[in-house]
Amino acid sequence: MVLAELGASLRDSLRKLNSGVSVSEEQVQEVLNDISRALIEADVSVKLVQEMKNKIKVTLATAGDSSMNKKKLVQKAVQDELVSLLEPATKPYQMSRKKPNVLLFVGLQGAGKTTTIAKFAGYYARKGWKVSMVCCDSFRAGAFDQLKQNATKLRIPFYGSYTEADPVLIAEKGVAQFRKEKYEIILIDTSGRHKQESGLFEEMQEISAAVRPNSTVFVMDGTQGQAVYDQAAGFHDAVDVGSVIVTKLDGHAKGGGALSAVAATQSPIIFLGTGEHFDDFEPFKARSFVSKLLG
Ligand code: GDP
Repeated sequence: MVLAELGASLRDSLRKLNSGVSVSEEQVQEVLNDISRALIEADVSVKLVQEMKNKIKVTLATAGDSSMNKKKLVQKAVQDELVSLLEPATKPYQMSRKKPNVLLFVGLQGAGKTTTIAKFAGYYARKGWKVSMVCCDSFRAGAFDQLKQNATKLRIPFYGSYTEADPVLIAEKGVAQFRKEKYEIILIDTSGRHKQESGLFEEMQEISAAVRPNSTVFVMDGTQGQAVYDQAAGFHDAVDVGSVIVTKLDGHAKGGGALSAVAATQSPIIFLGTGEHFDDFEPFKARSFVSKLLG
């Protein structure tokens, strides 16, 4: 189920409730079941949906005979729960001007890291920040060229190497150079694949230990479903993810993966990628995302 369909199903479910106070227990139960089904079909994990449903029930029970009508009460409870799923207690890293803010971008190959770094760089450069990029993906042929092309289009300084095979060394050198040159934002692109499966996480740990980033950003493909939970948890265990960027929300995104990634990392989503162009990028606001979803 794509994101737009999820929104439509949630709205349809909520519409089943009369707007009077005389909503029966059965009707509420049916609507909660419908909503749960829609979320599971959108690839939100069953465990999360169950927890959410229980919390909504508690909220409704404690509200008792509140003056607010039942329909509104259920709507508000669903909305609040979705927002709290998307907005964990942990706040995103706040960048400071006039000091180097080093951000490490991690995620699987194809998730959209290189594109997202360019968008991120362009977004902050337009706001007047001094931004730079380091490519330490020495695994994928063409990764450095891709970053270089993006950086050139955006007129953003970059660092990388065609000959050095050790990503840790590239990261160290690039970050050291841009720190010295007093860049305010240093973005590090990493590989999304490795010869051995566990090797990728080890490589991320080594890079992270070498450059000590201020924060690590997990880039996830929004078209992916529940599998994202394990991916996100794996990266989080390896390098302590601080925030999430969800890409490809323009296409057939299920949206549920985003909720799962937030749950797995307990980290907030900071931006959404909504297309292949540099401008297809927007800051994420949980409440307005959910309001749009529920119409
Ligand atoms: P990486 O391997 O993680 O660095 O991924 P890339 O940045 O190379 O992106 C993989 C593909 O996804 C490319 O074809 C990008 O143009 C595309 N892509 C990245 N972000 C988005 C997005 O928000 N929307 C769409 N439609 N495509 C995207």
